[in-house]
Amino acid sequence: MACLIECIDCGHTNHYHPSEFNCPNCKSQWRRAIYDYDNIAKILPDALEKRPFGLWRYQELLPVQKPVTSLRMGEGGTPLIQAVNLGLMLGCPNIFIKDERQGPSASFKDRQAAVTIAALKEAGITEMVAASTGNVAIAYSAFAARAGIKLWAFVTSLVPAVKMREIALYGSQVVKVTGSYDQVKKIAAEFAEQRGLYHDMGARTITSVEGMKTIAYEIAEQLTEQLGPATDGSLWRTPTWYIQAISGGLGPIGVSKGFHEMKRMGFINEIPSIAAIQADGCAPMVHAWKQNLEEANAVISPKTHIETLATGTPGRAYPLLREEFKENKGLFESVTDEEAFRAMHVLAKMEGVSAEPAAAAAFAGLFKLIRAGVIKPTDTVVVNCTGHTMPAEPLVLGSGWARNVVLPQESETAQAEPAPKEGEGLLAALSRVAPDRFPRVAIADDTPDARRLIRRILQSQGEYTIFEATNGREALELVNRERPDLLILDLMMPEMDGFAVLDAMKNNPDTVHIPVIVSTAKELTQDEKNLLKGQIQALMQKGDFMSDEFLDEVKSLIR
Ligand SMILES: *Cc1c(COP(=O)(O)O)cnc(C)c1O
Ligand SMILES: [Zn+2]
Repeated sequence: MACLIECIDCGHTNHYHPSEFNCPNCKSQWRRAIYDYDNIAKILPDALEKRPFGLWRYQELLPVQKPVTSLRMGEGGTPLIQAVNLGLMLGCPNIFIKDERQGPSASFKDRQAAVTIAALKEAGITEMVAASTGNVAIAYSAFAARAGIKLWAFVTSLVPAVKMREIALYGSQVVKVTGSYDQVKKIAAEFAEQRGLYHDMGARTITSVEGMKTIAYEIAEQLTEQLGPATDGSLWRTPTWYIQAISGGLGPIGVSKGFHEMKRMGFINEIPSIAAIQADGCAPMVHAWKQNLEEANAVISPKTHIETLATGTPGRAYPLLREEFKENKGLFESVTDEEAFRAMHVLAKMEGVSAEPAAAAAFAGLFKLIRAGVIKPTDTVVVNCTGHTMPAEPLVLGSGWARNVVLPQESETAQAEPAPKEGEGLLAALSRVAPDRFPRVAIADDTPDARRLIRRILQSQGEYTIFEATNGREALELVNRERPDLLILDLMMPEMDGFAVLDAMKNNPDTVHIPVIVSTAKELTQDEKNLLKGQIQALMQKGDFMSDEFLDEVKSLIR
């Protein structure tokens, strides 16, 4: 279906052509695609029922007339995964992960590449230029390969070598530039101009914004499916928050456009608040936002290891997002590299989701905003897990993350050899993998979810023999029978509450010395706090503890 391109500065409209970069009337590069929303609103809900879940199901709302099906690689249609363990840990049950790692080249850049390459193919364009911190070039390269389009990929020399090699593997020409990402963008644009080539212009690229907006549509459809029909009578549900780590800000520009279109077509009533997260070492938008500035000051030399987030000069993207955030209670926030790496580790250990550091920055932002009380326990939150790659793992894991088993060599004349002496061979090797006795931890909690969470936190970073009790009476029996090295005790339990368990333990000389961590969902009164004083080693508030802090506590008590 046809779209029109509308200039956001002068309102001039004309038809779309990918290699027209400026408004023909005022030369502005900031324009947007508009569609026949009234008609699309009538046909889309029915049409969607028959289409597979993927980016092209919204084709009436994309700037490609006849998308060539042979270019497709399963772009879009990524899962929306509920983060149950994070939800328990943070006391915010409705956290969802939009798992963009599951796109064809493992980042959400696949959406922009899929739509842009389809539009270029349709227009007969066969060569293009893109500046990239890695993922854009990887995504474009993959789709360009299928479409027979040559890509010149300009990357900063800081892009991890594995990412550069992937770009080259797809047959793109990698141009490695020693300089900041902003300088790389300038060089790439100049190169393209000199040769008259199409080039990607980030958030000013119509097809890129349109590709990104499909995230919003998918989230609305998926939340409705997973949480049931919207309570306000609209067709689809929306989250309270959409969180994404940003560099140039293309993602949130596209996603907010998607939500506004849905509202325009009457599919939703509420526009979600967007939280855009930057890295502390390169956070021009956050600085400007916090100082209430209309323009962001450039960060000339970004100081972050997360090169994917290193856009120092946001330009027009900032005022555009600022306006949107002021209108719909969004915000900019930043996190340190360390917070992002830590979040990366927590996400992998607690949810089985291995994200790249840039994507993990969004989760670090989530943790920060929940702790600050900005995101409320009743809010529904979708975090864009934008990408997946391996290069940062050494930074997170350090050394000692694997144990080695070296087996004695089997010789060809095995029968002739004397039998191995005791203590050699497989058994001896395996006994070095793990000791026979582990510290023993008892968990007493009547909620299965809470027991699972604590078990998972313990498992994820140490070896423990774990016992579980589902009420106070069982807990006391367990303590008397197993004599654990540590008890993790809930206070509100049926049959016998945590206070009574503590009392009984402390009156028994065999169990009086066992350290106790109380984990409670309840705000304690001063009387209750006094009651616990001297009886327990630590008090942790449920829904407000991070796995690392909890583990540190456990380790210090078991020593
Ligand atoms: C590109 C990218 C970002 C930044 O997104 P923008 O919307 O362009 O600011 C964040 N995370 C990952 C993994 C990316 O690839
Ligand atoms: Zn104009």
